[in-house]
Amino acid sequence: MADQDPLHLPALLKSNLQLVRCANCSLSQTPGCPVPAISGSPTPKILLVGEAPGATEAEPSGFGIPAGAAFYETGRPFVGFSGKKLRALLAEVGYDMPDISVSNAVKHRPPNNRTPTREEYETCSPFLLEEIRVLRPQRIIALGAIPSRALAYLANTTLPSGSLRGKVFDLKVDEMIVPVLCTWHPAYAFGYKKTAAAELKEDLETIFRSI
Ligand code: URA
Repeated sequence: MADQDPLHLPALLKSNLQLVRCANCSLSQTPGCPVPAISGSPTPKILLVGEAPGATEAEPSGFGIPAGAAFYETGRPFVGFSGKKLRALLAEVGYDMPDISVSNAVKHRPPNNRTPTREEYETCSPFLLEEIRVLRPQRIIALGAIPSRALAYLANTTLPSGSLRGKVFDLKVDEMIVPVLCTWHPAYAFGYKKTAAAELKEDLETIFRSI
């Protein structure tokens, strides 16, 4: 069990080395690198979980792919369009970046940014679980349906079909019980549905006030 001591980040490094070698599903064959969690501190209060890395996050740049991505961004979650929107929203709501850690339900980029399958997010879930075990967040925010369902799978609970925004459930990891709040994915909120952006902001504020 990971503890709140200086050893817990090396514990995550071990999990990340396993991730680099993971071949448990076909996504490990897609170009680019796996993208593990990042954290503003060893003791973040909140873990935000997205769906899966996109091109900006997973593809080594510097060789012309993809335009606009910087080498230092590769391998980090939410550094593309959605990430920029998300960070702006977090700043608006008043989050301190050291309070935040960010990850994805699926660690490899699905081809053509397709939605990860249930088999893929379930296969990848031990990596997410290990990140939660090591980072010990007080709250988890699931950004969209895939992370909501992946976390529900880890919590051994089922979610209804249809909109999951506003659903809350507890995830038990070792002796910890971490409330998970489901909300919109920023790409959806900022790309497709205007009212969802306001709701995403409202949900981030609710979580922020609850810790
Ligand atoms: N980038 C990520 O890291 N995750 C997402 O879900 C979307 C973009």
